[in-house]
Amino acid sequence: MILPCFSDIKKPLLLAEEQIKILTFRKYLYKFVYYQMRIILFLYFFMKINEIKNKLVEKGLKITPQRLAILEAIIKLNNHPTAENIIEYIRKNHPNIATATVYKVLDALVANGLVMKVKTEKDVMRYDAFLENHHHLYSSESDRIEDFVDTELNEMIKKYFEKKNIPNFEIEDVKLQIIGKFLKNNK
Ligand SMILES: [Zn+2]
Repeated sequence: MILPCFSDIKKPLLLAEEQIKILTFRKYLYKFVYYQMRIILFLYFFMKINEIKNKLVEKGLKITPQRLAILEAIIKLNNHPTAENIIEYIRKNHPNIATATVYKVLDALVANGLVMKVKTEKDVMRYDAFLENHHHLYSSESDRIEDFVDTELNEMIKKYFEKKNIPNFEIEDVKLQIIGKFLKNNK
């Protein structure tokens, strides 16, 4: 009978130990990344809420829990939600806010320029809390809307219409809805 020498037994043991070390390290790394991401998301949302509060104050509107909740819904739902999406979110997360209040608050926010309305090809009204000058990429197939920020395009449009000088009309804003298909459904 040939007995394995000590180094032959030790080798796999060492390998297993190494593997455990790597796995433990990976586990802690994933945990670290996961918590970092949660902190980043929390900070992002905290900053957004503060930005919203400042905007409400700027527009002379009172900071009410209802207004904050609806703005929170629009930001968290992320894909330019419909009134129905917002109502569903409010029902789940802020059940004390009535549906009629949601509509009233939405109208007030739109009237004060804190939220924009976006109409899709299907004539469905969606809401947008991103107030920077931007356009939209829209897919009627998936009903997905993505923000499209392009300062070069804005400059081009501005220059084009300055040259065109449409008679008897003053341009206030140009917003494009670029229709197409998203190639990857990585929402
Ligand atoms: Zn948008």
